[in-house]
Order: sequence, then structure tokens, then C-alpha cells
Amino acid sequence: MTTLPLLQGYPDELVAPAAALIESGRALDAIAKRYPVGHRVSSNKELFAFVQELKARYMKNTPQIAKVAYDKRMRSAQNALGLHTTKQRVHGDGLRTSRELKVASLFREAPLAFLRMICVHELAHQKHREHDSAFYRLCCHMEPAYHQLEFDLRVYLSAHELAAEAAAAEAKARAEAEAETREAAAQPADNQAPATSRPNPDLPQ
Ligand SMILES: [Zn+2]
Repeated sequence: MTTLPLLQGYPDELVAPAAALIESGRALDAIAKRYPVGHRVSSNKELFAFVQELKARYMKNTPQIAKVAYDKRMRSAQNALGLHTTKQRVHGDGLRTSRELKVASLFREAPLAFLRMICVHELAHQKHREHDSAFYRLCCHMEPAYHQLEFDLRVYLSAHELAAEAAAAEAKARAEAEAETREAAAQPADNQAPATSRPNPDLPQ
């Protein structure tokens, strides 16, 4: 069985059917069926507004967020669950904290429910650093289906990662096969070419 690090910690009775679905190659279709609604939150400006709306509704009394952005570097599924950084810089006579929220750019293409879930997750971190029970209570307050969504998102990310690995392996095999074909095709031409047609730059002329 494929190991699915993103599903670690979940009970077997949840993981087994999900793993079977992923291995059969049908997980992404199943998820697309379950979450058919996409979104148009494609720019950082739109993402900022999307997060602000959630914040205004559920977390009015937390400090302002300075920046919200999609991040291309957050590629692997392991860190796709978002980053929340708090930068402190010296400002006047005190420290000013600048809160930034980053969302992996793969969420641009993800269903709306997943984008919402990840923003809820990152917003909740503005109040609770750790993934403790207070953190998850706040997530569920903002999104009652939070736990189901996080599990389904992990299935989605696992399936994506496996698909990407398979595509990369396939591309590598294809490139190798093509290189071999090219070499084989180049050989007779080389043999037929007169020796003088190719001056050897290493030899003194
Ligand atoms: Zn987190």
C-alpha cells in the first residue's frame, strides 16, 4: 500500500477507504463530485478580500492582517496547509507585529470549500498558535464541517501529490527513451560522415 503521510493520525476505518480510492486513481473525481463549486479568488487582492470577509464575520477583535498572498513555493502537500508568519520589527519605541497569511497557490484551482477551509485554518492561527483543542473549536465555529473538509483536503492533496509523482516519473522515462532514440538515430550518420568534415577543436590546426 502507498504510504500517505498526510493521512497519518486518522483512524484506519477512515484511511483505508480513502487510500483505496487514491490508489484506484478515482479520488480526484470523487472529490470534484463532492465539491463541485469552484471559486474566482485568483489574485492576491481577491484573496485578501476573501480572508477579510471571514475575519470581519468571525474574528473581528483580532489584530489586522497586513498581507495575504498565494505562495508558489509552498509546493509539497506537507506544507500546503499554510503558513502563518508573524514578523516583528522595531517600530518607533516599540515592536510592531506584522501579520501575514500565505496560502499555497494550488488552492487557486481547488474547490471553494477547500479554499475557505484553509483560510479558516490560517485565521484561527491568528489566535491559537498550536493545533490544540481551542484551535479546532475556533475552526469549527467558523466552518462547522471543518473536520470533514480537512480530511477531504488531505485526500485531495495526497492524490495530487501521487499524480504529480507519476507524471514526473513518466516524463523522465519518456525523455530517456527519446534520448536513446536520438542517439541511435545519430549513430549511423556519424559513421557515414567523412572524418575530415568535423575538425576536432582539441587538435592543433
Ligand atoms: Zn496550522
